[in-house]
Amino acid sequence: MNEAKTHIIVGGGAAGFFGAIACAQHHPCDRVIIVEKSAQVLSKVRISGGGRCNVTHACFDPAALITYYPRGAKELRGPFSRFQPLDTIAWFESRGVTLKTEEDGRMFPTTDDSGTIINCLQQEAKRLKVEVLLQHALQEIKIKGSGFDLHFANEKIVFCDRLLLTTGSAPKIHAMLAQLGHKIVPPVPSLFTFNIPDSPLLDLAGIAVDAVKVALPACGCQQNGPILLTHWGLSGPSVLKASAWAARELCDLNYKTELIVNWIPKYTPEELKQSILKHKQATSLRQISADPLFNLPKQLWKRLVTLAGFESTQKWSNLSHLQLQNLAQNLQATTLQIAGKTTYKQEFVTCGGIALDEVNFKTMSSRQIPNLFFAGEILNIDGVTGGFNFQNAWTTSWIAGQAMN
Ligand SMILES: Cc1cc2nc3c(=O)[nH]c(=O)nc-3n(C[C@H](O)[C@H](O)[C@H](O)COP(=O)(O)OP(=O)(O)OC[C@H]3O[C@@H](n4cnc5c(N)ncnc54)[C@H](O)[C@@H]3O)c2cc1C
Repeated sequence: MNEAKTHIIVGGGAAGFFGAIACAQHHPCDRVIIVEKSAQVLSKVRISGGGRCNVTHACFDPAALITYYPRGAKELRGPFSRFQPLDTIAWFESRGVTLKTEEDGRMFPTTDDSGTIINCLQQEAKRLKVEVLLQHALQEIKIKGSGFDLHFANEKIVFCDRLLLTTGSAPKIHAMLAQLGHKIVPPVPSLFTFNIPDSPLLDLAGIAVDAVKVALPACGCQQNGPILLTHWGLSGPSVLKASAWAARELCDLNYKTELIVNWIPKYTPEELKQSILKHKQATSLRQISADPLFNLPKQLWKRLVTLAGFESTQKWSNLSHLQLQNLAQNLQATTLQIAGKTTYKQEFVTCGGIALDEVNFKTMSSRQIPNLFFAGEILNIDGVTGGFNFQNAWTTSWIAGQAMN
């Protein structure tokens, strides 16, 4: 008979708990311990999704699901065929937590309370006799035979046979791993809104448009989706997506670059001109600024017309061919200068972490150091906003927890 092993999971976040539970379930005779540096576990889960916890996303095709990950898409394809949002839903449901889907696909507990998810994870860990050590900050990892001696800030040294690191974007752990020979992709922020102090739209804060295209020419990035005008610049899903896909390039540019907004992306330039021309013929005696076209909010339309160089009193009948072209062009290319970034509702993730080519995604184990495993945000994986970052945590830790044998 095999001797009982000790499995240590460092980091008491979403990936740490989910991984510890999977590990305890698959290795019931072994000892499973979560060590957490702070006095509390699951802190990010508590504040996530505005206190409601956006657990996952209603996207059930692994090939489609990976398209929401600026980093990690290729590597997650296999893992998502083993544990995807349907499995997350079933996992929580079988433990008494029902999830609901909002219109945009985000999934939350029906209680709208992240405490439900925390209680579920804590109760399940307790049922499976997972031990939790708080205020244990890992300071050093020493390889000892086929296992590890872990040195903690409280001077304790604990040996383990298998080690799972789920410490998120903690720079100290990155440095420890670099020392042990692991390649670390330098961390930079992802998921943020754009500061545009010179924007001529600042006083229109609060206005939202459902479907625009934003482009960052210097980053080779463009994204579609809703946009929200804010008193500091721009926010909303299209902007957050652009910030994630261009996270590294934007950092290299020190968050100073040109942004182009196409307010009517579903029309080609020619279709747009024809549509404006039709409107001109139908309502020639009305003022241009009085008639918002393409369902744009009235105040925004007025501003875009002014920015295109029209007097507020100009009538459609006086619109020259050149002016028509100018208006069409402005509606599809409002150019703004980004001068910085602001965190979106405190929800940020880190782009960067353990280089993915050094991880075996069948087991989430290190290709450099035997019996070492990774899961969650410590990896160079991040998703856009919508529940994708937790799904990465659930999937990778579920695989790691089972594979720690
Ligand atoms: C405000 C906010 C809201 C969010 N909302 C959502 C959402 O609704 N949906 C979604 O999908 N994603 C959301 N995210 C992202 C999501 O929370 C993270 O991707 C996810 O929590 C990562 O889980 P993790 O377990 O990998 O890391 P973490 O949750 O960061 O956990 C890491 C743990 O390791 C511990 N640790 C670090 N260093 C050490 C050490 N040396 N020794 C011991 N322990 C250590 C930390 O204290 C922490 O408890 C949100 C993020 C934020 C900041």
